[in-house]
Amino acid sequence: MSANDLIFIGPPGAGKGTQAKRLCGKLGAPQVSTGDMLREAKTAGTELGLKVADIMAKGQLVSDEIVIGLVEERLSRPDARTGFVLDGFPRTIPQAEALDKLLLKMGRTLKHVVLLEVPDALIVERITGRRTGENTGRIYHLKYDPPPFADRGEGGERLLQRPDDTEEVVGPRLAAYAAQTAPLVAYYADKGLLRRVDGVGSLDEVSARLFAAVGV
Ligand code: AMP
Repeated sequence: MSANDLIFIGPPGAGKGTQAKRLCGKLGAPQVSTGDMLREAKTAGTELGLKVADIMAKGQLVSDEIVIGLVEERLSRPDARTGFVLDGFPRTIPQAEALDKLLLKMGRTLKHVVLLEVPDALIVERITGRRTGENTGRIYHLKYDPPPFADRGEGGERLLQRPDDTEEVVGPRLAAYAAQTAPLVAYYADKGLLRRVDGVGSLDEVSARLFAAVGV
């Protein structure tokens, strides 16, 4: 059986995390999110977490070396043997080249690179309305995917807002995407791997387009 090795790229707030989770459920493959890994390091107060906290809060990218090391370790674990869905990595051309090298060494090849497309005009509302359940890690949107409970209400959990999900930090995050990540679109299109998916619409509409684009 060939491995389901997939990547998600797209601007911040496009819905990569949410849709990657849905696709992982279908494929039975783990979601590998460098953003989640870095946030966990920050919450755990590790040396790495302390090192990256400031950069993340400003909406800038952490060094290629750091994230490449995290991904290398994660993809070597047994649960990634039959596939993985990378979300938020690679984000620069050097990261993409490092991933190519790593996969070559592992004897694997990428199957699809999903580009989740959402216009800048919709990004601010998507990002500032995003909340995460404190216990479950479930991602909500106050308007588009509201939790079925009041914040801290009965049967609910506390809703947290990412410190970089503010209006002030959206600008630098979009700028980092345009300058450092957008070149990956041509990089993967040249390899014939790019699958463009319109990220505007309901969660189910976007999932349906995504599943059709990757043939699941
Ligand atoms: P995300 O959850 O993917 O939006 O990532 C949140 C933040 O983590 C980003 O704004 C960066 O500061 C950092 N980050 C996550 N993934 C990467 C990556 N592949 N390269 C550099 N920085 C990253």
